[in-house]
Amino acid sequence: MRVGIGHDTHRLEPGGPLRLGGIDIPHDKSLIGHSDGDVLLHAIVDAVLGAIAAGDIGQLFPDTDPANRGRDSAEMLEAACDTVKSLGWRIGNLDCIVHAERPKLLSHRQTIRKRIADILDVDPDRVSLKGKTGEKIGPVGREEVIVAQCVALLEQREIEN
Ligand code: MG
Repeated sequence: MRVGIGHDTHRLEPGGPLRLGGIDIPHDKSLIGHSDGDVLLHAIVDAVLGAIAAGDIGQLFPDTDPANRGRDSAEMLEAACDTVKSLGWRIGNLDCIVHAERPKLLSHRQTIRKRIADILDVDPDRVSLKGKTGEKIGPVGREEVIVAQCVALLEQREIEN
């Protein structure tokens, strides 16, 4: 088994919706990024790649490449997942934290878990998601940024003869 960690931060700007965890959440702010700015999927990509020392999201999808402008981060996660599979590994489980003052994630949690599980082609019970506020202090608490963290456990696949 291998474990990997991922972390990402994106700035918020006025105007929704908020793309997070592969879904669009009705909100009055959105995340800025070269791609679609999906901070949670980016953290997951880095965690799964990190587990097998396969580089990071910036290597797979350089922000200097115009082709990545506005790219759907679900495509990035699918590509990372393909890398994982091609090297003989599969997702064991993910544990994720989203640090956001608003919106409350509770009502979106199951939808996001299902969406991530669908992208990864695993059962939703392998995808954990927790929301934390910034207690109204710091860049998270002032709603300047959303931060995401992910720990991923990967398992070596059985060799099929
Ligand atoms: Mg990012």
